[in-house]
Amino acid sequence: MPEPMPAEPIDERIAGGRLTIDLDALAANYRHLAKCAQPATCAAVVKADAYGCGIEPVVTKLTSVGCSTFFVAVPAEGARVRAAAPDANVYILNGLFPHAADYLIGHDLRPVLGSVVEIENWVAAAKTAGHALPCALNFDSGMNRLGLTIEELTRITSLPHLMDHLDIQLFMTHYACADDAGHPRTDLQKERFEQAATLLPGVACSAANSAADLQVAGHQFDMVRAGVAMYGGEALNHVANPMKAVATLEGRIIQIRKSKAGDAVGYGGSQTLIRDTRIAYVSVGYADGYHRAASNMGVPMRAVAPSVRAAFKGTAVPGIGRISMDLMAFDVTDIPENEIAAGDWLELFGPTIPVDDVARAAGTIGYELLTGLGARFARRYLGGAA
Ligand SMILES: *Cc1c(COP(=O)(O)O)cnc(C)c1O
Repeated sequence: MPEPMPAEPIDERIAGGRLTIDLDALAANYRHLAKCAQPATCAAVVKADAYGCGIEPVVTKLTSVGCSTFFVAVPAEGARVRAAAPDANVYILNGLFPHAADYLIGHDLRPVLGSVVEIENWVAAAKTAGHALPCALNFDSGMNRLGLTIEELTRITSLPHLMDHLDIQLFMTHYACADDAGHPRTDLQKERFEQAATLLPGVACSAANSAADLQVAGHQFDMVRAGVAMYGGEALNHVANPMKAVATLEGRIIQIRKSKAGDAVGYGGSQTLIRDTRIAYVSVGYADGYHRAASNMGVPMRAVAPSVRAAFKGTAVPGIGRISMDLMAFDVTDIPENEIAAGDWLELFGPTIPVDDVARAAGTIGYELLTGLGARFARRYLGGAA
């Protein structure tokens, strides 16, 4: 089979959208999260291409500010982290896939073992290698996702033929409701985790994601695993977001048109204009990961959906009508006509329009918007590591 041609990088001249990643803001957010974690260390979660921000530049920047442990979801992501950070500890959250042990060993990656079968397979790989191999153990403290039950953990820790071949570097769990500060389930999970940890004396513990790290003290243990907040997203519900925006998405205005009150705009004629309107059409759409569900219909689509907005030089402008595959429309009537023109950029999210506001308008969360961004943007990085 012929090798696929490597895609040419997309530069701004030919791009409908421009994604800017501010690595200095990322580093500032990391420092804030690391401070909240103290005396625990702060590891970085860089799964899903570092929440859409790019594994390599993100890992390089975080390494330069002192981060030495990274978490990804799957082995191929781990290999990219390993290449960018040769000395880091790299954990694979989704565990040990049945035939992946050689790959993990070859790239010096540590599985987060979440079932008895995974433990047995990692032990088998250790015996072949001739020495215990580093790993983390995942404990299900109540989320009912991945991880050992208390019964499994009790049994495993009593079996020397397994324990002697495991180099357990970390004992971890994950909270289901940490985004709601003070949720009673988090306290319950923490209690079960602390109880379970007594079976592994001396092993470092980790429970907190961004949200749990940002809550008052108590969840940090020895290591926190910071993700979304590092990228500027909202980790805690109903709390002002203290983080700096890292990702800014701008769409290029390709036309500005004048339409009349009473005209219907876009597919389905879903929104009827209530005034004469200047409409800016932007060359970004749902194929770029800007969810169609965020469309404005002029009437509320869902009971609580706030209307989606963009911003021109810091001034918010409302979205109009349905989002198309490659286009969307914004009402720029309130921007003086001589100040805005085709070719200009509209901020779709970033410092003026929080990514979580766009997500809310689409009925989802900032995580999904960031990790779903498409491949058609010109990407630029500010503040790269020296
Ligand atoms: C994704 C993930 C994190 C990071 O969560 P954020 O909410 O993005 O901070 C931490 N731990 C586990 C197990 C995860 O899957």
